[in-house]
Amino acid sequence: MRAEELPTLIPSLEPREAPPSVLGRNVLGRNRAGRVPSLQLGCTPVVADGYERGRPIPIRLVTMNGVPVERATANAYWAMHQAAVVDGVELRINSAFRSAPEQERLYACYQCGCCNRGTKAAKPGYSRHQNGRAIDLSLRATDVHPWLVAHAADFGFRATVSDEPWHWEHDGSTHSPDVCQPRMREGVPTASRGSYGLDAMLDS
Ligand SMILES: [Zn+2]
Repeated sequence: MRAEELPTLIPSLEPREAPPSVLGRNVLGRNRAGRVPSLQLGCTPVVADGYERGRPIPIRLVTMNGVPVERATANAYWAMHQAAVVDGVELRINSAFRSAPEQERLYACYQCGCCNRGTKAAKPGYSRHQNGRAIDLSLRATDVHPWLVAHAADFGFRATVSDEPWHWEHDGSTHSPDVCQPRMREGVPTASRGSYGLDAMLDS
């Protein structure tokens, strides 16, 4: 499937809420509201058209709560997500991989200031969202950003845009287990900072 065929998978920048039906089982961590956070994982193999420094590259995608995420970034995010759960913090991805049309739309908004709140966007082909390394996380919960500042680097994620505290990029320094391997699907503990079972609710 090509990226152009993924319009329904490309997330908006608006915060997303996972439907109650995706709540996982056997999760020991709870957020401060007492809810059990979970994450719906889609492992159907998809290769999309990404870009690295203006040149097209193939990007392997999985989905997390319906958001397309480059696979190595997803593996690192999964480890971080689990560690946050142990600490009672619920991470949510608002946006990750972007197709070329999506980046072009956001760049046009940045240029005109007339849509997407005029949020900064890289020139199409040069966004770290197009090479799969960048994720935008929801900061709606006040405990998320302090947790990221304290721990994200442990999982290879760094804040790289000073005025975008929601934007984190994986630097490739960590190699986490493949989130879509069968043993991962069975909830084998993988977090480096805790031992517990977190079920991925597979949508495929
Ligand atoms: Zn971003």
